[in-house]
Amino acid sequence: MAARHWLTGAALLALSFTSATAMAAPDLTAANARLTALLDKEYPSLDAIYRDLHMHPELGMQEVRTAGILAQNLRKAGFTVTEKVGGTGVVAVLKNGDGPTFLVRADMDGLPMEEKTGLPYASKARATYEGRATAVMHACGHDTHVTYLIGVARALSAMRDSWSGTAVLIGQPAEESLEGARAMLADGLFTRFPKPDFGFAAHVGPLPAGTVSIKAGASSSASDSYSITFHGRGGHGSMPSATIDPIPIAARFVTDVQTVISREKDAATFGVLTVGAFNAGSAPNIIPDAAEVKVNLRSQSPAVRDLLKTGTARMAKAAAAMGNAPEPTIRYLTGAAVMMNDESMAETARQALTPIFGKQLVFAPASVPPMSGSEDFSEYVDAGVPSLFFGIGGYDSAVLADLKAKGEPAPTNHSPFFAPMPEPAIRNAVTAIILSIVGGVRPEAK
Ligand SMILES: [Zn+2]
Ligand SMILES: [Zn+2]
Repeated sequence: MAARHWLTGAALLALSFTSATAMAAPDLTAANARLTALLDKEYPSLDAIYRDLHMHPELGMQEVRTAGILAQNLRKAGFTVTEKVGGTGVVAVLKNGDGPTFLVRADMDGLPMEEKTGLPYASKARATYEGRATAVMHACGHDTHVTYLIGVARALSAMRDSWSGTAVLIGQPAEESLEGARAMLADGLFTRFPKPDFGFAAHVGPLPAGTVSIKAGASSSASDSYSITFHGRGGHGSMPSATIDPIPIAARFVTDVQTVISREKDAATFGVLTVGAFNAGSAPNIIPDAAEVKVNLRSQSPAVRDLLKTGTARMAKAAAAMGNAPEPTIRYLTGAAVMMNDESMAETARQALTPIFGKQLVFAPASVPPMSGSEDFSEYVDAGVPSLFFGIGGYDSAVLADLKAKGEPAPTNHSPFFAPMPEPAIRNAVTAIILSIVGGVRPEAK
């Protein structure tokens, strides 16, 4: 029985290996030559768009000008465009015969900070952030993302004979606050428009220019923030029996909740629980009527994410019950799931793109831990769109070598000095995504 089972398994493995190899190695040389010629022709206009976007960054949910430029360019490329989806979001659809529906996303928002790059096209923009005036900068490279999306649109339009199906391109607002993906989904992204079978995105970072990185499996950490308000009954500090004091209830919660990490979570898996704020009371002789704590949870697997979330809520309710207080109010503030790259898409893309990018294609298997940052593209994946999220290098290797010699790190995303080289970042993002589409990178049929 066991032997027969093994034979069947080996035969199946051989079969699937053959078909995977046949599927995974399309000859993209010709498609790449055609795309390169197209990008040579289009890049000057893409560069002008990039510089304009860089000079005029907008904060999350304020991307009116950016969305307008994106919408206009996507329409010009032949797409049917809908604006104001989930706030300032843009959705562009191009139907090109039978075949799968795929998503390509760019995020559009800048950050509330002053640019110090000294670039001739540095931003001098200002805006209002949480009620206060601030400088604004594209310090996360989302200007390169909006530009690559326009490049992807032009290439899909010009190369219609190289792919078939339906393209859904989206300009997403407010990635930085992890709100935008959820806002677009809540506004019917996958019901008012064709629901994608799979998706792509790319993010520029301080890797050497030319680098395209693929991370199989988890590529970023989940982050969830909650506000928990413990309700009591306020009163005089000398008469606690006439009150329900929320301070010891919240204090007990702060210490007890760490047992979710130390006693409930598998000790070998990543998970962090931080109480970052504790606000209650005003004077020593007043028992307040409420205490608020703010909790941030970090995890790298759906199981741990769920454990931290349910464990925190359970501990909060239990602390209130122990103090004879009403149920606490638990409010979700913001968050994003672990970004899970589809493993079959990552592997097929690795095989298809290695002949194109050579050693500049960097592949990390699922066993390598994800980065600590978070990314709300995971919302689309969790809504049923298996995806591949590329990392794109934007830094001049000479600049990186110089910084290394001086013992200084390269400016990361969100640094006021963050200045990726737009041309390799934009061209490589377009190339990785277009050749993945043309090359048949898609999730394995289940
Ligand atoms: Zn960012
Ligand atoms: Zn970003």
